[in-house]
Amino acid sequence: MTDEVTMTARIIDGKAIAAEVRAEVARACAELAKQGVTPGLATVLVGDDPASHVYVRSKRKACAEVGIKSWDHDLPAETSQDALLELVDKLNADDAVHGILVQIPLPDHVEEQTVLDAVAPTKDADGFHPYNLGRLLSGSPIVAPATPAGIQQLLLRSGVETSGAEVVIVGRSNIVGKPMGALLVQKAEGANSTVTICHTRTRNLAEHTRRADILIAAIGRAHAIAADMVKEGAVVIDVGMNRTEQGLVGDVDFDTVKEVASAITPVPGGVGPMTIAMLLSNVVSQTKRGLA
Ligand code: NAP
Repeated sequence: MTDEVTMTARIIDGKAIAAEVRAEVARACAELAKQGVTPGLATVLVGDDPASHVYVRSKRKACAEVGIKSWDHDLPAETSQDALLELVDKLNADDAVHGILVQIPLPDHVEEQTVLDAVAPTKDADGFHPYNLGRLLSGSPIVAPATPAGIQQLLLRSGVETSGAEVVIVGRSNIVGKPMGALLVQKAEGANSTVTICHTRTRNLAEHTRRADILIAAIGRAHAIAADMVKEGAVVIDVGMNRTEQGLVGDVDFDTVKEVASAITPVPGGVGPMTIAMLLSNVVSQTKRGLA
């Protein structure tokens, strides 16, 4: 007999929590329908990137399920930046469209930021517009980027205490790492964390990750976070989606890290479903904002 206790982490079920959020969005859509309003999302997809096609298809399907009307603009890879800006202008002016989603990455000949900046902030479904990012930083967000907003909801709805927690985020992209830090450092429910953001220039990455009560990996490298980089009892959120010969895997070495962590998100079935649910929630927020 040995006294050694091995810990196996609780799995944070992103699919179940996303279903809760989608049900709330569906109820909000039903309320808006009573006022004769149908939230509408226009999606713009340029080129044939297979992953982008998969995302956009699932976003459109999710819209239909909750009562959001969607319009699909699928454009060839050679579409010019001017044509794209013209389409965005048209959608900005269309009263039936409450949310616009331009799927990134855009082809190399298009300046991504110029197109994202052209979306009216009041119709920005992804929360990527500088106006909405600025509101997030100033502590009064209207819509926040969907993936970090989804992670915050995962933490809140699975009872993870963020207040006072040491949060270490690995990755500083504009769509995940940076807005994630901005959300969790806010003086607000589901936030009030002490945040560290790491990247490729971080010295001694493992020294930082081992301090984390909540470790968020948004790196884009399969199994980059090993068990010896994680503090015993930490909550581990895996944002990574890496297509490998073994199929879709996260940035965290799930099988070994789950023996050290107290809670962990799987890939697939963790953060991914939340991103789509929060996009739907953003469309409803923008619709209500337009009515106010
Ligand atoms: P990204 O723009 O490529 O950013 C990756 C970040 O990780 C960069 O800041 C990079 O640092 C950092 N990094 C890379 N290797 C590192 C290392 N060895 N040590 C420390 N930092 C390192 O990626 P992203 O768009 O944020 O996406 C990250 C991952 O999340 C991808 O797998 C993506 O597919 C996935 N994702 C999933 C969802 C979802 O809904 N589940 C949504 C968005 C993204 P530098 O800045 O120094 O280069």
